Amino acid sequence: MAVFDSVSFDNHEQIVHCHDEETGLKAIIAVHNTNLGPAFGGCRMWNYDSDKEALNDVLRLSRGMTYKNALAGLSMGGGKSVIIADPKNIKDREALFRAFGRAVHKLGGSYYSAEDVGVGTADIMIAYQETPFVAGLEGKSGDPSPFTALGTYLGIKAAIKHQRGFDSLKGIKISVQGVGHVGYYLCQRLHEEGAELFITDINQDNLNKVATDFGATIVAPEDIYGLDVDVYAPCALGATINDETIPQLKASIVAGCANNQLAELRHGDKLKELNILYAPDYVINAGGIINVSFENDYDATASTAKVEKIYDTLLTIFKRADEENRTTNVVADEMARAIIEGAAK
Ligand code: NAD
Repeated sequence: MAVFDSVSFDNHEQIVHCHDEETGLKAIIAVHNTNLGPAFGGCRMWNYDSDKEALNDVLRLSRGMTYKNALAGLSMGGGKSVIIADPKNIKDREALFRAFGRAVHKLGGSYYSAEDVGVGTADIMIAYQETPFVAGLEGKSGDPSPFTALGTYLGIKAAIKHQRGFDSLKGIKISVQGVGHVGYYLCQRLHEEGAELFITDINQDNLNKVATDFGATIVAPEDIYGLDVDVYAPCALGATINDETIPQLKASIVAGCANNQLAELRHGDKLKELNILYAPDYVINAGGIINVSFENDYDATASTAKVEKIYDTLLTIFKRADEENRTTNVVADEMARAIIEGAAK
């Protein structure tokens, strides 16, 4: 498997393939950049079709973490890990996450893990028995999802504000793709403010809960892109902004919590051409990692105040992108790079 030739390789500092024969653990840990501090980023468990797909994911996700942590003003570098396995079909979860914890420990603190898709706080608590290099623990900062949802909610408001001059979500139609950990709390906030919700998921239980709790309308997964809504909020997996989906979009705003929403950089250009305002994913979804950054001296008020800054950061990016006639994602990348490179000097 060619790592350095991969299109997703971006001068990553360290990429470690981990295997444990007894538990069958197959994982890849990528430390992208540690200029600002040790690399922080969650662990994703997914039934990848190939090792190549898993590698591509971890390379892209870890780079996103470096940029996310920089723009969120955190003293943390960027990293990520993936476990190649079907989360619904694990024989011995305790043994698997203990093996994962040992693998993280071998990196000696250059990478700290936490939860991501397919991995929960309980799994990280298991890994914690093998290594202190994990975060988002019960009794400390805990589940990051409500904070990711808060940041995403404020990011949607910032996008509405930039586009329309007001930031009330009353009567605003929002489609949410993926109503898992973050999607649930996001829908709760949007509903409380009077937004009209359209939701899709491949998990019927998750759908039913959000439909019942927040009066959301359920749509089929393939229908989510073409809905006549104001905002499309991708909150499942990445790369949903691509050649097939962009022509279907009727929303004038793309703002959701999923990582790596643009399949390729050029899809950001395409959104701009169509006058669709894009809230760069790693800016709008930084709430969870901001909360994790308070792990060792947990203070919910201070964490919330820092998450709330996402609103202003996004307004700055939107304004600058307009003034410079550039895409929001390129402007965000440039702002993040200035911070990362500044720290290296
Ligand atoms: P989750 O696994 O709890 O939820 C994801 C949901 O998406 C699930 O309900 C799943 O069934 C659904 N889904 C998967 N494939 C789908 C498809 N093709 N169509 C529709 N629905 C689909 O994960 P989460 O923690 O809520 O994270 C959601 C996204 O936000 C991920 O991209 C994650 O990387 C990102 N994110 C999460 C956090 C966090 O704090 N949890 C922080 C930053 C970014």
